[in-house]
Amino acid sequence: MSTKVLIIGACGQIGTELTTALRNTYGVANVVASDIRKSESNVFNEGSFELLDARDKDAIQACVEKYKITDVYLMAALLSATAEKNPEFAWDLNMNSLLHVLNLAKDKIIKKVFWPSSIAVFGQNSPKNNTPQHTIMEPSTVYGISKLAGERWCEYYHKNYGVDVRSIRYPGIISWKANPGGGTTDYAVEIFHEAIKKGSYTCFLTEDTSLPMMFMDDAVHATISIMKAASTDIKVRSSYNIAATSFTPEELAAAITQLLPDFTITYEPDFRQKIADSWPASIDDSVASNDWNWSAKFDMKAIVSEMIVNLQRELV
Ligand code: NAD
Repeated sequence: MSTKVLIIGACGQIGTELTTALRNTYGVANVVASDIRKSESNVFNEGSFELLDARDKDAIQACVEKYKITDVYLMAALLSATAEKNPEFAWDLNMNSLLHVLNLAKDKIIKKVFWPSSIAVFGQNSPKNNTPQHTIMEPSTVYGISKLAGERWCEYYHKNYGVDVRSIRYPGIISWKANPGGGTTDYAVEIFHEAIKKGSYTCFLTEDTSLPMMFMDDAVHATISIMKAASTDIKVRSSYNIAATSFTPEELAAAITQLLPDFTITYEPDFRQKIADSWPASIDDSVASNDWNWSAKFDMKAIVSEMIVNLQRELV
């Protein structure tokens, strides 16, 4: 049976680019994008699109049956900063959407599930540098709590019901095509927009806050790679650490100044500082490298160059 994909939450920062990449991989006719809203991006004018609420299991099942879907990529979630403003809603969306999709796989209505976790699963008591795959995990945000619970459900459904679910702990994702959706690492995207439009940026984190980051192309490549890997190679059924680079706002600003010499930055930390302080500064992704050959291509310098070249074309 050929692969037929449904992306839930396709109009977001990652879903927009994942939709294009999955269409390139499996063919436009075999990829259905869905979201609770329709984005204005041209991406969603090509190929099938459905309005779908990730909290509505019957609606997801009807869509899966309509298109004979085999693989679901569940990208809908409330992100770290937004979730802190509405914890119970975040828990409802982030948890129930996952359980709905896992149950469709348990009932053999779909074959394979991709669900993203996050570096937010770690907390104050996790090792901050080179955070290992297996370590203390005590998240202090509702987002991190929902992602850690989600990881435990994924492993539970795999072990007890044989569900083929695969997951990655994304770091902060940097991209220029779609805007970020309310996370703590959003500064690393906003900074480029403001640098090009205004020549200055006020950062909501302190200059020395180091966080793990990744360019979108690497994140999309990781997502498609883990889903294409042989099932026997996927030995971690909670979620894999992946990493590309880590930097502070000060280091990022210095790299931007190399290409835009007049750029200036100031710092006004807000509630997101506390979230960032509870997260790792860097990640050990050796288990993903060993199990399914993961490696990143873009370092900070390459990310800065891609962002500035592409946004200068888009924004100016
Ligand atoms: P985003 O906020 O940009 O996009 C989420 C999408 O989900 C939006 O288009 C939104 O309209 C949609 N959505 C919200 N509620 C919905 C519902 N009830 N039904 C259907 N769709 C709904 O998020 P993103 O950055 O693209 O993240 C995708 C996934 O990756 C999330 O699970 C997120 O937690 C995870 N993640 C992202 C990052 C990052 O830096 N972007 C880092 C770690 C993990």
